[in-house]
Amino acid sequence: MQQIQAPKGTKDVTPAESRKWHYIEKTMRDLCAVYGARELRTPIIEHTELFLRGVGDTTDIVQKEMYTFLDKGGRSITLKPEGTAGMVRAFIENRLFNEPMPQKLYYLNSPTFRYEKPQAGRYREHHQFGIETVGSYAPETDAEVILLALTLFEKLGVRDLSLHINSIGCPECRRDYNAALKEYLSGYLGEMCETCRGRFEKNPMRIIDCKEPRCREIVKNAPRTIDYLCDDCRKHFEGVKACLDAAGAEYVLDPDIVRGLDYYTGTVFEVISNRIGAQGAVCAGGRYNGLIEELGGQQLPAVGFGLGMERLIAVMETNGVVFPDDPELVVYFAANGEEPRRKAFALVQQLRKAGVSAEFDHMDRSFKAQFKYANKLGAKYTVAIGDEELEVGSVKVKCMADGSETEVRLDRLQEYFRE
Ligand code: ATP
Ligand code: MG
Repeated sequence: MQQIQAPKGTKDVTPAESRKWHYIEKTMRDLCAVYGARELRTPIIEHTELFLRGVGDTTDIVQKEMYTFLDKGGRSITLKPEGTAGMVRAFIENRLFNEPMPQKLYYLNSPTFRYEKPQAGRYREHHQFGIETVGSYAPETDAEVILLALTLFEKLGVRDLSLHINSIGCPECRRDYNAALKEYLSGYLGEMCETCRGRFEKNPMRIIDCKEPRCREIVKNAPRTIDYLCDDCRKHFEGVKACLDAAGAEYVLDPDIVRGLDYYTGTVFEVISNRIGAQGAVCAGGRYNGLIEELGGQQLPAVGFGLGMERLIAVMETNGVVFPDDPELVVYFAANGEEPRRKAFALVQQLRKAGVSAEFDHMDRSFKAQFKYANKLGAKYTVAIGDEELEVGSVKVKCMADGSETEVRLDRLQEYFRE
């Protein structure tokens, strides 16, 4: 029969890989705890309307990349293409605004779906870690969110990354900017891709983020958002930079970053690696002061980022990070004969209950083959049980590292291994 394969652009996480994920997840959780962030889990599916309004209907994500379908009740449903919109919806719906501000909320390993051309670092299902801090306008909050990402990379042993920051201003700055941008682009209207022609009137800044080669060429000399900031936005951005300086974080001022989602206002940033190929953005985010109100909540400011787990692992691997090994097997029971096998089985269950990793033979191997298997598993100790051991009520525990043997009574095994 023909074998069924995983859908294009998706990846299994095999046991050899999942231990890397566990290590990263634990590091993330511990770090979030230190920053006072708490986990908020949201569904994989949301109403399509959420992303139309949240992410924006002129973005690449909404126009080209969403997995959208009608469910059996005729509702338009979309698989999460990013993390923030769902977090904000859940923040409002669960009335988290009633809790003390700021609220620092994180998500971990969130499956994220985008219909993109699969290639290195670009999948149709990927996973994101992210944080959203709601309620504060302070530049310290932008800097804190950025520093959480940088600290995470440091803890995970990733070095060759650079932080790029920019400000794209508030709606007030955007009005002036859009006018200047449209004036610049109007000479190129005929040469732009069809999608961008449609964006020209509705949302010209989106054209800056277009991936079409010709559009990229055109926007090279376009006006930059950073030159159109109002006084408040300029002051805020200066504040963010001062906080990063105070914390000793290095950054590159990068006026080309506008981000591909409509909800951003003010600070935007990306953490980029130049060692994992063309898809070098590992983490990206910024401030979004209008989204909560846009999605039906109060006027509340927020700032956050999303980080791609697969790209993070790729960067860690090129950095030669050594991941912790699987937990070791403490003891293997080799048994010879029916009664001894039964006893080995019972002893193993007892030890496991006490939190000691233990194993026995499931495969009806010969006595000799059981020891070979124990070796393969890397057991720290082996115990051999035959009729004789049952009779005297004690076994020899062999330490595999030095070959030494210790006589231990059967009813004392649990105590022995717990020590
Ligand atoms: P890119 O410019 O590479 O398309 P993006 O700006 O679309 O990235 P974001 O929406 O900012 O990406 O998503 C946050 C992070 O999620 C990215 O920095 C990246 O690490 C990861 N990511 C985004 N799209 C994919 C994908 N298709 N496959 C794997 N990881 C992805
Ligand atoms: Mg993208």
